[in-house]
Amino acid sequence: MKKEHTFQSEIKQLLNLMIHSLYSNKEIFIRELISNASDAIDKLKFKSLTQPKKYSEPKEIHIRIKINKEKKTLSIYDTGIGMSYKDTKKNLGTIAQSGTKKFLSSIKETEKKNNNLIGQFGVGFYSSFIVSKKVKVITKKANKKKNKATQWESDGKGTYHISKIKKKILGTKITLTIKPEEEKFLDIWTVRNIINKYSDHITVPIEIYNYDEKKKTFSWEKVNKAQALWTLNKNTITKENYQEFYKYISQDTSNPLIWFHNKVEGIPEYISLLYIPKKNKNNIWNKNNKSGLKLYIKRIYIMDDNKQFLPNYLRFVKGLIDSQDLPLNVSREILQNNTITKKIKIAITKKILNMLQKIAKSKPKKYNKFWKEFGLIFKEGPAEDITNKNIIYKLLRFTSINNKSEQQTLSLKEYIRNMQKKQKKIFFITTDNYNAGKNNPKLEIFKENNIDVLILYDRIDEWMMNYLIEFKGYMFQSVSKIDDSITELFENKTDEIEKITEEDKNLINTIKQILGNRVKDVRITNRLKQTPAVVISDKQDMSTQMSKLFIAAGQKILPLKYIFEINIKHNIIKYIQKIKNKKQITDWIELLFDQALLSERGNLDDPNKFIKNMNNILINNYIEQ
Ligand code: ADP
Ligand code: MG
Repeated sequence: MKKEHTFQSEIKQLLNLMIHSLYSNKEIFIRELISNASDAIDKLKFKSLTQPKKYSEPKEIHIRIKINKEKKTLSIYDTGIGMSYKDTKKNLGTIAQSGTKKFLSSIKETEKKNNNLIGQFGVGFYSSFIVSKKVKVITKKANKKKNKATQWESDGKGTYHISKIKKKILGTKITLTIKPEEEKFLDIWTVRNIINKYSDHITVPIEIYNYDEKKKTFSWEKVNKAQALWTLNKNTITKENYQEFYKYISQDTSNPLIWFHNKVEGIPEYISLLYIPKKNKNNIWNKNNKSGLKLYIKRIYIMDDNKQFLPNYLRFVKGLIDSQDLPLNVSREILQNNTITKKIKIAITKKILNMLQKIAKSKPKKYNKFWKEFGLIFKEGPAEDITNKNIIYKLLRFTSINNKSEQQTLSLKEYIRNMQKKQKKIFFITTDNYNAGKNNPKLEIFKENNIDVLILYDRIDEWMMNYLIEFKGYMFQSVSKIDDSITELFENKTDEIEKITEEDKNLINTIKQILGNRVKDVRITNRLKQTPAVVISDKQDMSTQMSKLFIAAGQKILPLKYIFEINIKHNIIKYIQKIKNKKQITDWIELLFDQALLSERGNLDDPNKFIKNMNNILINNYIEQ
């Protein structure tokens, strides 16, 4: 009995979007259907190995394409796992991923015409409606139970019919009735070329029903190479082969930035083919944006999204591992504690880091592109991977005062090369953004003495810096923290600081009285030039950026107590020293303290108090009463 069903509303939207958008390359529907057919064949192969009682493979395995010019149909048939009635309803009538819903509501009208999006969020099967006025699916689940076959039919206009039918079929047959204006897809040569373009690397033979001039009859002709790309000799694989294969396994529409293909014949024995994408497509709606590698065992596809083979900080790497040693019935749980898995992970981590290092050296521009996309993820490396810390440190990129732009392109090696002779530390500041860091008063003395300071403005930086202790014998030092070595470093220039007068000492005491236990200490600074005062953190205290991270994460922390440092050579301080009225001194000190806090944190607990105070001082000094 035929039953009419309405598509889930997201699918309606999707179909609408697809049918009415003018796609520049409609041909991708062939790629999508072949990819589904090949997945179905892989699934059956896997099931027949792991559950031989329930599933077995047919004698002949293939994907077949037949064109009927009179009926204006193109059909794709596969000997794969097939679908039960329930499967069909679920797989072809709903979009399981709730992200797709978000995607549909988030894209702008103009973007809907962008064909690239199809590849990005894998609408797969529904792309057949780009060229078809009707799509019919006949399928049967390949388990040994005597199920009926299922027929599914739709014109893509909002509803579909589904019914159980009596039909002997093995696998799935999808028949597209091609729209009159798309009849070029009924041409065998056109279809053949499309298959060659996208699906050469599919390991199953793809056959097309064609007229054989020699035999003078129609027969099935194999059109793809049907060899697993990664098993071929590197010399026989072209750049285009690698790129096309990447697009196939990653569902990305652009070419990869770099790839590494590696055959290891030791123990364990495996092949790895790894890619780094051009762009970080971390879109929540992208259903294909799963991290991890595909796992093959002895050329047989086992599973997707395998996170066991990569450390987290390299999770942007795509590709596959083909192992000779793992058992076919391996599960994710077994993989987790498997020594072979661990050995492969260690080896490919080293391999990836070495390749990145090679690129950083020989193609710095390419490396910078990589860093721009994936630097944020890579910054998890120092915390996660202590064993590879030496090479990870070399791969990190920063910006600094002298780097003159917020682009992170400076390596630690370069920083050290440009250090001043007497400099013994690598200085850094963590801030909210590049300019806030660059203009921070704490850098004044560094700028004057031409000592470079790394400016770290990514959220993760504060956390990362907890793990960066030293590089090539140089300790990392935050300029926001007490650091006695600064006095030594700027010794010649700071000799005037020696001359602290009684008046200065008195002022320090007065400030201590005014600020009371709001500060940890008050001292004369050795790090300011144009600014009257700053706050800094004590050596062991939590930094401002760290406290912001805690607060953002919803954690309660004690308010930070700073050390308040004043610049006794600054005109404002000199002016304050001349004031006799205690109330006026208090106003000035409160103003300077708030200024210092504002500069440190980017905000104040009570901004109105600060404004009122400033206005009072302006009135008292500039406005005649
Ligand atoms: P995806 O392939 O990304 O999962 P598709 O829209 O291409 O999304 O396909 C949806 C689902 O329909 C597949 O996941 C699969 O379960 C099922 N399916 C599609 N084509 C076939 C086929 N030829 N054989 C068996 N199942 C299929
Ligand atoms: Mg698909």
